[in-house]
Amino acid sequence: MRIPFVAANWKMNKTLPEALEFLNAIRGQLPPESEVESLICAQSLFLSQMLFATSDQPLKIGAENVYWKDSGAYTGETSPKALASLGVDYVIIGHSERRKYFRETDEMINNKVQAVLKNNMLPIICVDETMGQREANEKVHWVVSQVIEALKGVSPEEAQKITIAYEPSWAIGTAAATAKQAEDGCYLIRQTIADMFSDECAEQVRILYGGSVKPNNQAELMAMPNIDGVLVGDASLDPAIFLKLVNYQK
Ligand code: 13P
Repeated sequence: MRIPFVAANWKMNKTLPEALEFLNAIRGQLPPESEVESLICAQSLFLSQMLFATSDQPLKIGAENVYWKDSGAYTGETSPKALASLGVDYVIIGHSERRKYFRETDEMINNKVQAVLKNNMLPIICVDETMGQREANEKVHWVVSQVIEALKGVSPEEAQKITIAYEPSWAIGTAAATAKQAEDGCYLIRQTIADMFSDECAEQVRILYGGSVKPNNQAELMAMPNIDGVLVGDASLDPAIFLKLVNYQK
């Protein structure tokens, strides 16, 4: 059974005091991990303080990006080995903002996926689709190829542990995809995993939808058979709204 997954992507928002204030505001109000897995991904520079502040809470803490080398002369980059040493659980990889603004390629994303797995953390791989691609009917090719490229060299055992987020960039910070559009994308991703690995593996992999998720559209999205959770930007920045998102079953 795939446990529902509600993941926040804070992006480049919040200072350390703001992050700690947020964590204080949600203390004691998160659902048990056996019911819903809750995650906050934040800027790497204060992940260790966030981990320390939430060590007794059913909340996972993740990074938003990482480099693929464990150490060396790569000024300004974040080492996956160093991230793992903090106790970070998850790392978002290949977000559409990284692909667009920082020119991340499928090959770089694949390197990062392998580095994260090697360091015993779990990748959340984002796959993207622009409105132009959707209108030109290129969606299938585009989404499928990003999944195939990101998972090159990954073993079936590792693949089962991966989370993939379908985040059409036309739905980020604008208006969400309809539940049907989101389900179509997530279904396509699951089929691609089944083709690459096996049906059993595809059954294990959690697939999230991201793009303008709010408490008022979340339940309909998560009721879809291939949507196991949500990756939330803007709405996750407010503690009261985040609590609504993680407690959506109540
Ligand atoms: P919004 O929820 O702000 O649309 O952002 C989605 C996103 O990019 C999550 O990774």
